[in-house]
Amino acid sequence: MIERRKTREVRIGNIGVGGSQDIRVQSMTSCHTWDLEKTLDQVRRLEAAECEMIRVTVNDKNALEALPEIKKHMSVPLIADIHFNYRMALGAVEVADKIRVNPGNIGGYDRLKEVVNKCKDKGVAMRIGVNAGSLEKEFLDKYGWPTPEAMVESALRHVEYCEGLGYKDMVVSLKSSDVQTAVKSCQLFSKQCDYPIHLGITEAGKGNYAMVKSSVGIGALLLQGIGDTIRCSMVGDPVQEVPVIWDMLKCLGIRIRDPEIVACPSCGRIEIDLDKLITDVETRLKGVKTPVKISVLGCVVNGPGEAREADIGVAGGKGVGYLYRRGVQVRRVNESEIVDAVVDELKNWDANGNFIGEDAGESHHSGKSQAAKKQEGLFSILNG
Ligand code: SF4
Repeated sequence: MIERRKTREVRIGNIGVGGSQDIRVQSMTSCHTWDLEKTLDQVRRLEAAECEMIRVTVNDKNALEALPEIKKHMSVPLIADIHFNYRMALGAVEVADKIRVNPGNIGGYDRLKEVVNKCKDKGVAMRIGVNAGSLEKEFLDKYGWPTPEAMVESALRHVEYCEGLGYKDMVVSLKSSDVQTAVKSCQLFSKQCDYPIHLGITEAGKGNYAMVKSSVGIGALLLQGIGDTIRCSMVGDPVQEVPVIWDMLKCLGIRIRDPEIVACPSCGRIEIDLDKLITDVETRLKGVKTPVKISVLGCVVNGPGEAREADIGVAGGKGVGYLYRRGVQVRRVNESEIVDAVVDELKNWDANGNFIGEDAGESHHSGKSQAAKKQEGLFSILNG
């Protein structure tokens, strides 16, 4: 069980980040913000993928002028990303639910003060986004390199400055394209400060490598209970980032919004076409939100054991599948009927992952103790 680090809650539009709130999923549009057609298309698709906050860059006057129209079409909070030009931040605060500023390039404390005071007046949250690639010269001179200590000192300096102005609606990020630096920075910061942390491995790259790099870094922090919102940086369509974050949260058991499928890689013992079976199960379960664990294994070596740990389990035999419900074998079906059997079984589970079938009481209270007996039975059937 992961024990989540206690942070204060910050309101961002209609949702909370930190405290007892769920870890939030966010992303950022990748097109020119002024291009309303493209921006709104990405926003619509990000929302459909269950992205809970969306950031757009506000890098010039045209982008700033597009914000009200973008906001009008959004049902999730809008975040404005600002670099270099504090006037863009002042304008964005009129519309956005949160702004992201980079203390290394906003132009000094006088400008930051104006932005903070306006955020305070408007009730708008702010992310202090420290980035290894744009750390202030002062800290680079002191540490010689954007070390975790340098990044944390920069973040803390800005947090204290904003607090000195009576402003506390802050989220903090400490990002680096180097996984170890990012992880160490967040660990150090979380020991010294209770503001919510936005997790991300910046400039993680493209495709599989980006997914692995982000998952390693973000996963290491999530396992330590660190992190209140996540962005998974990937080259290309931002919509691809969202399922990666959801899968990180799902495989750590932090937030589960759809079935988790456990499957063996298969080997020389395989008796059924597992690859096709998993593909078919995934296709049939697209859009299904029931948060249950479904294990589908190729043979009896691990099949019954995994089935004991899953809500719904399938152990493959010679041209057949043995269907389990929380460790209890409930059916034996031909291989061609396995997918239908799994889909049918799902009808017995509610939206919270509770069994609601006719024998719900028996399954809940005695399922695991019966499992061993049933397993023995299965072995004798298959071996005998
Ligand atoms: S469950 Fe069976 S088929 Fe799958 S990898 Fe293990 S031994 Fe091989």
